[in-house]
Amino acid sequence: MIKPAEWYDKLDDRKVVCRLCPAECSLQPGSKGICRSRFNRDGELVTDNYGELVALAVDPIEKKPLYHFYPGTNILSTGPNCCNLGCLHCQNWSISQESAPTKYLSPEDLTQAAIDSGTIGVAFTYTEPLIWFEYIKDVAQLLREAQLRVVLVTNGYLNPKPFQELLPLVDAMNIDLKGMNEQFYLKICKGKLAPVLDNIRAAYESGIHIELTNLIIPGENDDIAEIEKFIEFVASISANIPVHFSAYRPEYKMQNEPTPDSTLLELLELSRKSLNYVFLGNTRLSAGSDSNCPGCEALLIKRDGYKTEIVGMDRSDCARCGFKTMIRVN
Ligand code: SF4
Ligand code: SF4
Repeated sequence: MIKPAEWYDKLDDRKVVCRLCPAECSLQPGSKGICRSRFNRDGELVTDNYGELVALAVDPIEKKPLYHFYPGTNILSTGPNCCNLGCLHCQNWSISQESAPTKYLSPEDLTQAAIDSGTIGVAFTYTEPLIWFEYIKDVAQLLREAQLRVVLVTNGYLNPKPFQELLPLVDAMNIDLKGMNEQFYLKICKGKLAPVLDNIRAAYESGIHIELTNLIIPGENDDIAEIEKFIEFVASISANIPVHFSAYRPEYKMQNEPTPDSTLLELLELSRKSLNYVFLGNTRLSAGSDSNCPGCEALLIKRDGYKTEIVGMDRSDCARCGFKTMIRVN
């Protein structure tokens, strides 16, 4: 459905500049932005993906991945047919980078679907939900009224003002921090690193729950010095932010070798010296799947695939030593 877009400036000759994300596309009448979802219609910026769902499914919250946000629950998951980055390794490229069939659901209908699903709320995920800005705002208001949760799984690539506008409407985010190198962001993801770092800090400071994911691509972002910068950045915000190092597999336009287990294990050991909660994803390794207490190392949450068992917690605290884990539970 076509709707007026927010966050843009009008220029002379019916030209517009979109200010939603750092790409700041400058658009002549009739042309579309990089995200393929906003276009200049006769001097006005409009979005044509409002409420257009490219997927709808009930997923375990662990699949987002969010390990410390209502562990063991399910969440209704959906996303738009677009993205404002162009990662060469995108695992969902057929719905993020190319046109795919969509189905319209009004904010009321999606909220009702979330209520009917019996899950904790809605996760906007799969592709890039931030570009669904207007729709997410409308749905989030209704989910709030229904006392359901709002989750974004995102690349974090938005301009600061619209990002600040979304934060009060969101309960949790998993933000991709794809590397710590501007060149990597430019060459591999077609974007910039600095706005993502700023938004991670802003999201944490707003008080919402955040977790970070870093897909480790051999030869591209697996340099130990860079990983150390990543760890240092996260620790400078909070050692309690859960971090997911995820294994890469060849996909889309990138055919590098898969991430070796040895790299993942090395990163796990290195990062656990500074961060309290580090996990491995997209791997059969059993290391890096459970949550342990940073205070006394007691097992808090046991995971086997998407089977999750809370074993050592008293509400949000460690049942053995009382450590305040910051894990959000029912
Ligand atoms: S949201 Fe889309 S149109 Fe707007 S600046 Fe970003 S990529 Fe360009
Ligand atoms: S940001 Fe995510 S959805 Fe977008 S291209 Fe990159 S990996 Fe794909």
